[in-house]
Amino acid sequence: MSKLFRHLPAVDQCLGALAADSSRQAGSPRPVTEGLPRPLVKDLVNGFLDLVREEIRAGAFAEEAELTLAALYPRMLAFVRRGARPRFRRVLNATGVVVHTNMGRSLLAPEAVAAVSEAAAHYSNLEFDLATGERGSRYTHVEALLCRLTGAEAALVVNNNAAAVLIVLDTLCKGREVIVSRGQLVEIGGSFRIPEVMAKSGAVLREVGATNRTHLRDYEAAIGSETAALMKVHTSNFRQVGFVKEVPLGELKALAATFGLPVIEDLGSGSLLRLDVDGLPGEPTAAESVAAGADVVTFSGDKVLGGPQAGIIVGRREIIECIKKNPLNRALRIDKMTLAALEATLRLYLDPELAKGRVPTLAMMTRPLSSLRAQAARLAGVLKKRLPACLDGRLGVSVRQGASRVGGGAFPEADLPTALVALTPLAGAGKNSGLSVDALRQALLSTDPPLVARVEDGALCLDPRTLDASEHALVLGALNQALGQALGDD
Ligand SMILES: *Cc1c(COP(=O)(O)O)cnc(C)c1O
Repeated sequence: MSKLFRHLPAVDQCLGALAADSSRQAGSPRPVTEGLPRPLVKDLVNGFLDLVREEIRAGAFAEEAELTLAALYPRMLAFVRRGARPRFRRVLNATGVVVHTNMGRSLLAPEAVAAVSEAAAHYSNLEFDLATGERGSRYTHVEALLCRLTGAEAALVVNNNAAAVLIVLDTLCKGREVIVSRGQLVEIGGSFRIPEVMAKSGAVLREVGATNRTHLRDYEAAIGSETAALMKVHTSNFRQVGFVKEVPLGELKALAATFGLPVIEDLGSGSLLRLDVDGLPGEPTAAESVAAGADVVTFSGDKVLGGPQAGIIVGRREIIECIKKNPLNRALRIDKMTLAALEATLRLYLDPELAKGRVPTLAMMTRPLSSLRAQAARLAGVLKKRLPACLDGRLGVSVRQGASRVGGGAFPEADLPTALVALTPLAGAGKNSGLSVDALRQALLSTDPPLVARVEDGALCLDPRTLDASEHALVLGALNQALGQALGDD
């Protein structure tokens, strides 16, 4: 066995072979190592050789000929190709959850993608006033648009909505009390909790009411010399039903006004459009919140709005001016690419129909069932015709009814009707015994690109709502790779 180790190719030999890669894959005419830092490739080669050494120790090789560079090369190439992929990369989202926080929330509209690319590649007037040739402010570029779309007097954008809530509380309420209903002390996931953000900002949470019911008199009784603001928080990812009561924003505003206190509203997802006609009722818009009298409103840029990650703050001018001057603003400020994407996205909203067509999040949320059915049928057709496991009867493909979700803590109880492509391993002889739905789902996580799907009623379900038709070839490729792995027949 020790003799076998000596026959392993040297690292330099391997590197040379990879650089001269002759087995270039179709569609990829360049050697696998081109453009990759040499230390990275070297680490991968060493990693591969370590793996082979382990296999030798485990008795996996009988003779020297199996250890020549030529014999090992195809596996080494695949190993390097897999390992050289960036950690952070594209995935296919077949879950039907449109604003999937774990998969990057919103996809940008083409206009926003172009704006990001322009801002990234070139100098810009980020903080340069082209009218005077002097220093300008990055905070002014989207302010007018936000005011127009929400009816607010002033606006500011920070890194995300958690930052927006933090800086609003820090500016207006530090060391003093903020009154919030017990029914609105939400946890958003990813550890954003209203009581904890409040604590971080130095504001003191004053809870009022009961979990299910809070009355105006509860707020009124809590107002005192220490009160800095009344706050309303959108419950986002849950709904209370039954014996419940919340105080409408307008009533809260009237109460606050008699005490000269501001009302803060954290809208969470914060839509800019009413989507009731598209079957998504009930989410308040930022404009409605401003109109009902909120003095400051915060919401996310990348949830239902469908823009880049950002925290949007709109409200009364004097309050926004104070927030702009808070030193925290410098720490929480948005970058130029976000700004570019946000401006391009917000411009589309000037024409709501244009926004619904161009902003992917809106388009996916409002897609008619007929269009989803047609796409599901097309995808199912492609898979039936082109997947070997379908052709030889080991995998069943059908279209069934299902439900998609908006995600991102918006419309939590809205089940959006959809058509799912359901993949079911068929009970049969031989090789098929190894294929389980869960193994297939798992194998799809390491394909190129990975495909994320859910298992429902014993089938792996692909929801076309979050897949673009142009991604069908990639879905087919991923399934081919995963089935090859799971069935051992590549
Ligand atoms: C999502 C959400 C947040 C956090 O927003 P991010 O943009 O993820 O930072 C805060 N408050 C509410 C009510 C939310 O729904």
